[in-house]
Amino acid sequence: MKYVLVTGGVVSGLGKGVTASSIGLLLQACGLRVTSIKIDPYLNTDAGTMSPFEHGEVFVLDDGGEVDLDLGNYERFLDSTLTRDNNITTGKIYQSVIDKERKGDYLGRTVQVVPHITDAIQEWIERVANVPVDGKEGPPDVCVIELGGTIGDIESMPFIEALGQFSYKVGPGNFCLVHVSLVPVLSVVGEQKTKPTQHSVRGLRSLGLTPNILACRSTKALEENVKTKLSQFCHVPEVNIVTLYDVPNIWHVPLLLRDQKAHEAILKELNLLSNAVKPDLAEWTARTKIYDTLQDPVRIAMVGKYTGLTDSYLSVLKALLHASVACHKKLAIEWVAASDLEEITAQEAPDVHKAAWDLLKGADGILVPGGFGDRGVQGKILATKYARENQIPFLGICLGMQLAVVEFARSILGFHDANSTEFEPETSSPCVIFMPEGSTTHMGGTMRLGSRRTYFQVADCKSAKLYGNAKFVDERHRHRYEVNPDMIPEIEKAGLSFVGKDETGRRMEVVELPTHPYFVGAQFHPEFKSRPGKPSALFLGLIAAASGCLESVLQTGGKVNKISKNGVANGTAVGKVHQNGNMYSNGNGLHH
Ligand code: GLN
Repeated sequence: MKYVLVTGGVVSGLGKGVTASSIGLLLQACGLRVTSIKIDPYLNTDAGTMSPFEHGEVFVLDDGGEVDLDLGNYERFLDSTLTRDNNITTGKIYQSVIDKERKGDYLGRTVQVVPHITDAIQEWIERVANVPVDGKEGPPDVCVIELGGTIGDIESMPFIEALGQFSYKVGPGNFCLVHVSLVPVLSVVGEQKTKPTQHSVRGLRSLGLTPNILACRSTKALEENVKTKLSQFCHVPEVNIVTLYDVPNIWHVPLLLRDQKAHEAILKELNLLSNAVKPDLAEWTARTKIYDTLQDPVRIAMVGKYTGLTDSYLSVLKALLHASVACHKKLAIEWVAASDLEEITAQEAPDVHKAAWDLLKGADGILVPGGFGDRGVQGKILATKYARENQIPFLGICLGMQLAVVEFARSILGFHDANSTEFEPETSSPCVIFMPEGSTTHMGGTMRLGSRRTYFQVADCKSAKLYGNAKFVDERHRHRYEVNPDMIPEIEKAGLSFVGKDETGRRMEVVELPTHPYFVGAQFHPEFKSRPGKPSALFLGLIAAASGCLESVLQTGGKVNKISKNGVANGTAVGKVHQNGNMYSNGNGLHH
């Protein structure tokens, strides 16, 4: 097993996660099998309890692990399936050591950070690195480890110590340290400054780690003399210094690394040059080129709660992007804060209310994502009603699907107080109820989490076709509430169709309105399994419907525009030509 450690210096937010994922992808393109580990030095045992408002979305894995969103980046770039153990936190490590201590495994010795915590970290890394994540048998060739935070943080110290010991243990030729740093340009002199990087490399060395490769974030490519200086002061050969200068989008990062021969530098450090082939990134490059040149917009209104922080919906945005690129559309996200659509806003801030409705009405498609808590619920219901009544393509995810059922029960069945018992426990029409998989009396550990199977009930429905005429699909879940199975006959009689259910037939997974161009809700979160080259079926359906090409996508069983190596799409889906003028008012919120 070979290890690539990615650390960060100077400031946070340099794009360490994207760099680590890109390194993984590049090595994969060289024919190697790659896995990844993300280390988060915080004390939470997992990301499940962390607010997406503060921390970005909680990413969910097949095994039900609730993890840092960086694992989503790894899965998307490497098309891998990770496990909860691929995300190490301080909380997990301490918990495992304390559990052992309670069991008496340390035989009366004093339990300390060094060696017990540091040993536990190394054992964890070694164990997880050997687990295949690409569906093939046998251990991967390389494990890319990303250490969260910035060198010098107090909370990452035990990890640095452990990784220092680990690099010594696995020995040279098996360990490569890539340090991501910042080379700022001061506007007064316009000069690329190396001092911050020098300092952070010094910090790294003083902690016992020596960088093999420097990846410098900068606005432009590093000047030769700047590289020479960095090389001298940081003791890293010039060929091992790469610049991650600003690019239009993150799909360029693996290409940037390849162009600067980062793979050769890494493979050399790892003694893998003879095992690897020339990197094949033809399909990736073609897709990136298409992404760069898209002009014809598709406007999707995201009716959510945390509209201030786009990271709270990262996977949803990525899934929309994958689908848009596949349909050759330029994604324009219109952020609509759900509560702005509500009547109360009309009274308190009419301008805000009008602006929100204008955005919603200008969109080609509407998406109501998942969520917890009752803020904005009424606004989401109004947006759903608008989509349903005006034949606007609509996708509701998890809470979005539940509210679509609530809206239908209220408007069509006339159950005026229909609600989810999450928001109104006393409602006389509980169409969404608490349906935990475990205990009904305890909240803790009752979430339905991770991969579960959905069986399609109707072969002729849009969702089944989008999934390639599948009989069943496995998608990831994260919820406690579900559509009330006792109300299904009534709701179905009124026209809403539950086209996907679990194996018991009691849990509603996919809902569709057959009379509508595209009105689909899913109890699961399809966004977590979307990949740049394999867009998620239900997102593809939304984007295709919003661009007027759903029919051709349905006919081909959910396939569009397979991107060929020369960058020419050989599919047939063509979207309608958009008539609106200024499409870019809100940007697309994708580059951060
Ligand atoms: N709050 C809802 C539930 O627990 C929906 C959750 C979600 O959207 N992820 O079922």
